[in-house]
Formats: sequence, structure tokens, C-alpha cells
Amino acid sequence: MPTTKLSQDDVLQVLKRIAAPDGRGNVVSAGLVSDIAIQGSTVMFALLTTPQHIKTMEILRGAVEKAVLGIPGVEKAMVALTAERAAPPTGASTPAQPRGNAVPGIRYLVAVASGKGGVGKSTTAINLALGLHSLGLRVAVLDADVYGPSMPKLFGLTGKPESSDAEGKKMKPMSRYGVELMSIGFLVAEDTPMIWRGPMVMSALTQLLRETEWGETDVMIIDMPPGTGDAQLTLAQQTPLAGAVIVSTPQDLALIDARKGLNMFRKVNVPVIGIVENMSYFVCTKCGERHEIFGHGGAKEEAERLGVPFLGEVPLDQDVRLRSDRGEPVVATAPDSKHAAIYRDIARQVWASLQSGGLSRPAPRIVLENEL
Ligand code: ADP
Repeated sequence: MPTTKLSQDDVLQVLKRIAAPDGRGNVVSAGLVSDIAIQGSTVMFALLTTPQHIKTMEILRGAVEKAVLGIPGVEKAMVALTAERAAPPTGASTPAQPRGNAVPGIRYLVAVASGKGGVGKSTTAINLALGLHSLGLRVAVLDADVYGPSMPKLFGLTGKPESSDAEGKKMKPMSRYGVELMSIGFLVAEDTPMIWRGPMVMSALTQLLRETEWGETDVMIIDMPPGTGDAQLTLAQQTPLAGAVIVSTPQDLALIDARKGLNMFRKVNVPVIGIVENMSYFVCTKCGERHEIFGHGGAKEEAERLGVPFLGEVPLDQDVRLRSDRGEPVVATAPDSKHAAIYRDIARQVWASLQSGGLSRPAPRIVLENEL
């Protein structure tokens, strides 16, 4: 354990001793280093690059990581290459950007996203993953919700991932209910307040995605950070996503946010597989009557208007919440329930959509890491 508190300055001092690749000054003075985030003994930042300079920058990344690991008190250095640019002004159309290199062993990456927090995105993500698993598929979950990583809790998993090699360069994913999981929540203390900026998010997630020893995987579900800010846009842009599922409640406000989510994926050419309406209605446990608390059918109408498939409606149900809180997701622990059937149906549609030609397109070009 470190005895003194690490500061950004400690890291900057070391980085200032590393020459920039063009020989002019150091990596800091050349403006190649993003903001530096420190969580306990973990240091995270990104090095800016362009696709043309990936090879040189990859070598530099290795050297930088090593130098940072040499700082007393640093146990983990997460340095990623990023080609992040400033976000385009709202409404401006962005030309199709090349996205991250494919992840070895993983066939389809699917983002589960929402325009705002608290709509049941993570609950949908885990149950969709389990629904896909129930179809006989090999499934993994990447908890990319760095602002509130809830997957460890939803899976009922604690502890830290183990290294899968002697040098500690790769991590083994955690696993439960037949699904593999990696989450930033395993790596930082639950009560650590996290302030993440765009490049930081990308830096941490690139490492979680690419430095985990995933097994052969048919579908990886990525639980996105909620919202449509720069971090989300960069993530959508630089991850080789096969498609995205958008979760919304029927409330108007959430739908406006959902539309923003839809536009975000469209902007970066990620196909939207469909919209899920969560907390759609409530069936009274006493009288059996169906109550449409938030109004109902908004997401379905909106999906039709926007020309996006509507994947299904998940009722508000106390059992779903109670099981989630206990780390016993409904699809795995109450497979005969109505909810489990709804999630499995959504999973079937997602899988069919992934396999249909409609979503296939040319392999994305490399932007990030490891083009060696
Ligand atoms: P998000 O990822 O969008 O922030 P969560 O999946 O964490 O949302 O869900 C927020 C809260 O709502 C959690 O307590 C969860 O258990 C609950 N919840 C989500 N979906 C449902 C549902 N269909 N019925 C009842 N509770 C739900």
C-alpha cells in the first residue's frame, strides 16, 4: 500500500522526462498527455495520437506506462492511446469515423445505452446478457458505466479479478451465472468518488476491454455510462460496436433523452438494434390490475416514428428490483417468471438482428492500440 498520497504532479514530473516522438520537447509540453486521474494507487490517462502514428505511439505508450509504474506508490498504470477530437457542435453531422480494432475472440459487441440515469439500463443489460446465454450463446458483460458501476452488485460478485499471466498484464474476467464480467467496480473502492473526463473514460475502458483475457465470446454486452456526453460519444465511436440497444422509460422526458441516444449512435454509424421500454406498466399484486403509471406505449410509438425496432416492454415489478438488489438477476434465478420470458424474447430479437445482414458492414479500421 502506498504510504504517501500520489499527486498528478508526481506523474507529470516523470512524464516531462520522456521525449515527444518528433523530438521537440517532452510528451507533456507537446500536449500529448490528457488529464491524469488517480484512484488510490492506480494512475490513468491517455496519450493523444493520430491513426498514422499508431505504431510509434504504441511503443511510446509502453515506455510511458513503465515509467509511471516506476513512481513509488503506483501499483497500476492505465495508459491508452486515443484519437479523441473535440466534440462537434450539436446538430453538426460527423463523417463516419473509423472505430476501434476488433477484440480477439469476441464476435459481436453490443452497447446498452440510455439517455439518462436510473431508467433500468444496467438491469436490462444483465438480463439481456443472461437471456442470450439461455439461447446457448457464450456471453460476456463489460461494465462501462464508470460513473456508477453496478454490475458487480447485480451479479452478486465481490473481490478483485486475478491476473492471468505472471507479469500481471492481463486480467481474468470474473464469472457468474455462466457469463463473464469485467467492471471498473472491481478495481476501485466502492466509496471512491470518481471524476471522469472523456479521455479518462476511454483510457480505462480500453484497458478493461483489451487487457482482459476473455474466452471465446459470441456476444459482449457493454453497459454504457448513461447520457450522451463526450465520453459516451467517444466510447461509441472508438469501440467496434455491432449495434446498440436503447433503454427508456415511457416518460416523455426519458424519451427525449432516448432520442438523443439514438442520434448519438447514428452520428457515429452504429446501428441501433432497437428500443426497450422499461418500467412500462405495473400490475398490482393485490388486484391484478394493470396500472400505466408513466403513461404507456410512448417508446413503441417513438420507435415507430423513428424507424427503429421496438424490442419489448418490461413492466415495473418489485421482484425484479428485489432480486437485482440481492445480486440474483431475474433471468438466472426466476427463469419461469413473466419477466424472464420478456428478457429472453428481447435477447432472441437482438441475436436475430446481429445475425441478419442488415447490421453487418465492413470491418472497422484501427484507431486505437496494438496495430503492431
Ligand atoms: P440505470 O442503469 O439506468 O441507472 P438500473 O438498472 O440501475 O438503472 O435501475 C435503477 C433501479 O430501478 C434499480 O434499483 C433497479 O433494481 C430498478 N429497476 C430497473 N428496472 C426495473 C423494473 N422493470 N421493475 C422494477 N425495478 C426496476
